[in-house]
Amino acid sequence: MKKHDRFATIVDKVIQFREARDWKKFHDPKNLSEAICVESAELLERFLWKTREEAEGLSEAELSGVAEEIADVMIFLICMCDALGIDLLDAGEAKLQLNEAKYPEDRARGTAKKYTELE
Ligand SMILES: [Mg+2]
Repeated sequence: MKKHDRFATIVDKVIQFREARDWKKFHDPKNLSEAICVESAELLERFLWKTREEAEGLSEAELSGVAEEIADVMIFLICMCDALGIDLLDAGEAKLQLNEAKYPEDRARGTAKKYTELE
């Protein structure tokens, strides 16, 4: 199965999961924004107090926990896009194009400067 097909399938599964539980009524853009922030914080919590070396050398169990939080963020992003009629992949492609314009390779390569500070 192609990745694009897999993404369409997971979107369908997320929507079906939500519909089967009658949760759409909770999924307004405000609540979903909050849920995305909460799940992002849970992802961050997986790294709390770890050194850079520890964060880059996670155990299988730790990596599994991180994957769960990433999935939670993805699921709520899918719900958010559904609530607002946004195509997540189109939004991602459009943002990448914007970022390519803001961060030209010849000026942004190897630096962490914000685009407003690039020379
Ligand atoms: Mg979570």
